[in-house]
Amino acid sequence: MTPCPCQVSPTPNSLSQAIAYSDCCQPYHKGLKKAETAERLMRTRYSAFVLIKPDYIVTTTLPAQQSLLDVAAIEDWATETDWAGLEIVEHTPKLGKRHAQVEFKAYFKSPEEITSGLEEKIQAHHELSTFVKVKSKANQDARWYFLDPTVAMTVSQKQPCICGSREKFKRCCGMYIEN
Ligand code: ZN
Ligand code: ZN
Repeated sequence: MTPCPCQVSPTPNSLSQAIAYSDCCQPYHKGLKKAETAERLMRTRYSAFVLIKPDYIVTTTLPAQQSLLDVAAIEDWATETDWAGLEIVEHTPKLGKRHAQVEFKAYFKSPEEITSGLEEKIQAHHELSTFVKVKSKANQDARWYFLDPTVAMTVSQKQPCICGSREKFKRCCGMYIEN
């Protein structure tokens, strides 16, 4: 059995029985399931980076930000990184009305020069990501999206929020991303 990339962790608190990809992130990548929580979305996005699925990274980013993403750069970064595992540090499932945060460490290997040559060293991207739950008008179907803080948005603080909540940007997603 191949464990799901999101079930791999280089730390001692890793799961003793890792879950297979087919029982973990694959149904989400195939669009058969939608992420129930921000943590689940975070895990499936990590697995999508490992398995080089830039389309999944795009479709799980806030719709208003999707066209501003550099898909080629996402793909290059996913391909060039030697991923080594994921650790969820903390999941804050409810933050205000519609946000959630996940603190995580995404591990990767990077070669380091030592006296006898090169040694693989494990390093981590330690990040705090914000997610927003968006309801579609048509079917009231709510879905979690990643709020990308690196995407420059042309929205003023008093304009309606980019997530479609009808609140002002500054009172909604603007609290979590730079503008
Ligand atoms: Zn998984
Ligand atoms: Zn918002």
